Amino acid sequence: ALGHDRDNAMGINLSNDEQLRALAEQINAAQRDDWRAGPLVPGAPAPATAAVEVSNPADRRQVIGHWQPADAAVIECAMANATAAQPDWDATPVASRAAILEHAADLLEQRMPQFMALCTREAGKTIPDGVAEVREAVDFLRYYAGQARTLVAPEALPGPTGETNTLQLAGRGVFACISPWNFPLAIFIGQVAAALVTGNSVLAKPAEQTTLVGFEAVKLLHEAGVPEAVLQLVPGDGATVGAALTGDARIAGVVFTGSNGTALAINRALAARDGAIGTLIAETGGQNALIADSSALPEQLVKDVMASAFTSAGQRCSAARVLFVQEDIADKVITMLAGAMAELKVGDPGQLSTDVGPVIDADALGMLDRHAERMQAEARLIAKAGLGEETEHGTYFAPRAWELKSLSQLDRENFGPALHVIRWKASELDQVIDTINSTGYGLTLGIHSRIDETVERIAARARVGNVYVNRNQVGAVVGVQPFGGQRLSGTGPKAGGPHYLPRFATEKVVTINT
Ligand code: GLU
Repeated sequence: ALGHDRDNAMGINLSNDEQLRALAEQINAAQRDDWRAGPLVPGAPAPATAAVEVSNPADRRQVIGHWQPADAAVIECAMANATAAQPDWDATPVASRAAILEHAADLLEQRMPQFMALCTREAGKTIPDGVAEVREAVDFLRYYAGQARTLVAPEALPGPTGETNTLQLAGRGVFACISPWNFPLAIFIGQVAAALVTGNSVLAKPAEQTTLVGFEAVKLLHEAGVPEAVLQLVPGDGATVGAALTGDARIAGVVFTGSNGTALAINRALAARDGAIGTLIAETGGQNALIADSSALPEQLVKDVMASAFTSAGQRCSAARVLFVQEDIADKVITMLAGAMAELKVGDPGQLSTDVGPVIDADALGMLDRHAERMQAEARLIAKAGLGEETEHGTYFAPRAWELKSLSQLDRENFGPALHVIRWKASELDQVIDTINSTGYGLTLGIHSRIDETVERIAARARVGNVYVNRNQVGAVVGVQPFGGQRLSGTGPKAGGPHYLPRFATEKVVTINT
């Protein structure tokens, strides 16, 4: 019903030991310490920038490669290439563009171990996270390809006799795709695939922390058949490369995933340009809550809280940051939560047994450390997971949970394995929902309750994009749980959903008097 006629990617069965061992071996064989990346811009001069060293978040002493940022001359060349190449790409039949994306999906599926190895080494992804990452990227490619075939095809409209009316979608022009490090492959490819299949040319700027993954992804898309001038990589940081892209009137639209502050800066940059109004599609942060009432099953609740708060080291926009638990079951749940956290294996993401890997970099760790210091003074520590010996040289943050008195004690989104617990009384349900709404964020919400009316009441009153009931609240599946938030969490259209692609396109109606 959501417009794709293929199943989601299978990935591998993580409970099949033999498959898992074979995969682990392939991942090991794909490890390198000489990955290289730089601008992928045909005809551009070599950038006059210093190469950036990439180190492994799990052990900062290990250098895994280098990449070279784009400079102003490279960006100018990329902009000119993209502008010149877009009309032909837009005129290419949508079926051909879709077939290229599907070819890329097949290639990516075949190269899962290589991409997983890179995601582990550059972004600290655990093996289950790496599998999910590649699968989601494959799903985005196939889903947008399938959807574009029907969506972008000209549609005959009813009209008076003697006249034909046709509605058609076309690319807007050149799109800047500015993607995050937390899904360096999946979100990168999702943004790029959506922009390409609707007829735009693309300048892709991966997060500077995960440029190597972005580089390999662009090379794969070129191999699959995307012309090199239609998809170009312009690596660099937001302050220089990002700002150069969003401030240029030749950019028709920007798709961005990252912080709300950066999304606002992009919006201002687009608004400050002369000429056509730029489109912005943004997916930003969250202060995601999970509300559990006294009818929740503590065992299931704790299992789902653990997955929601600590999967991917809590570095998901969707992750649960605050558990609101009804006071009747709070002591039991908190005791069980502390027990479960004591079992967490925090360490080398390349080991199959690891639950929580490192956080992305020293800045992220610093922010979490400062938050932990503040919480130490203002909140009660419920549990702190232990760190393995091998974590000494990595950017690791021991997962923690604190009990708070009120949500106002949290001033910002804490992007990592940090959970907060707040007790509530039966009479306070609406107040709890309103407090969550009052943060201004509106991304995910978890509900654990066996009472249908309570579930319906919360789901109706909460101003969020994705509600999950009696399960965890992370890992939205393309085409199944279209993902994205409202208000401070984003501009709306959901990735992996039916209304995403139209935002990348412009509409044209042709009326012929026959
Ligand atoms: N789609 C991911 C999920 O459902 C989160 C994406 C993000 O962190 O931006 O967990």
